[in-house]
Amino acid sequence: MKCIILLASPGAGKGTASDYIENKYNYKHISSGSLLRNEALKNKEIKSLIDNGKFVSDELVMDVLNKNIKKDNIILDGIPRNIKQAKLLDSLFEENNINLEKVIFIDIDREIAAKRVINRLTCEDCKKVYNKDLIDSKVCMICGGNLITREDDTKEVFEKRYDTYLKETKPLVDYYKDKLIRIYNDDTLESLYNNLDKEMR
Ligand code: AMP
Repeated sequence: MKCIILLASPGAGKGTASDYIENKYNYKHISSGSLLRNEALKNKEIKSLIDNGKFVSDELVMDVLNKNIKKDNIILDGIPRNIKQAKLLDSLFEENNINLEKVIFIDIDREIAAKRVINRLTCEDCKKVYNKDLIDSKVCMICGGNLITREDDTKEVFEKRYDTYLKETKPLVDYYKDKLIRIYNDDTLESLYNNLDKEMR
């Protein structure tokens, strides 16, 4: 089994990039955020942590990840978020004979990421993401579900999450320096896809 890790700040386009790689290159997309939002439906404590831009515990993250690893090649979106998770992941890879192929670091200007998060609409049902500036409809083009703003997609929560990212997650760029590929997502969607294609070929 092979694994790609996507490392990025909030709003950098991890979900969009993972979906693209999943569909085009046949990796299973595992998003810790979306797995944890599912857990939050039955657990108020988890919901409150997510809504306030705080991390949930490393143990819970690894637990939900473990339950979702089967036999497919995977792309990890949102894990690891700190050095402890990276070390736990190293052990999990070893136990499951998973080969970490590469770590894609999506780099983006903080202001652009903030704007994308604040303008983000998410389909309540299929979770597809839209930009308020680019869509007129109030329903999803794919499944017809309602488009909503995630509770953590506010300017205030974004700033908190970004500061945590700088402190906890950005050091992983150094941790993974031997496998790291840096790509930029400050421009259009097409240019993100082109950058990904160059690295996936
Ligand atoms: P995301 O959808 O990746 O932006 O994640 C949304 C939220 O889920 C984060 O702000 C955290 O509250 C939580 N979360 C996702 N992944 C992790 C992780 N690896 N460790 C801790 N908390 C996480």
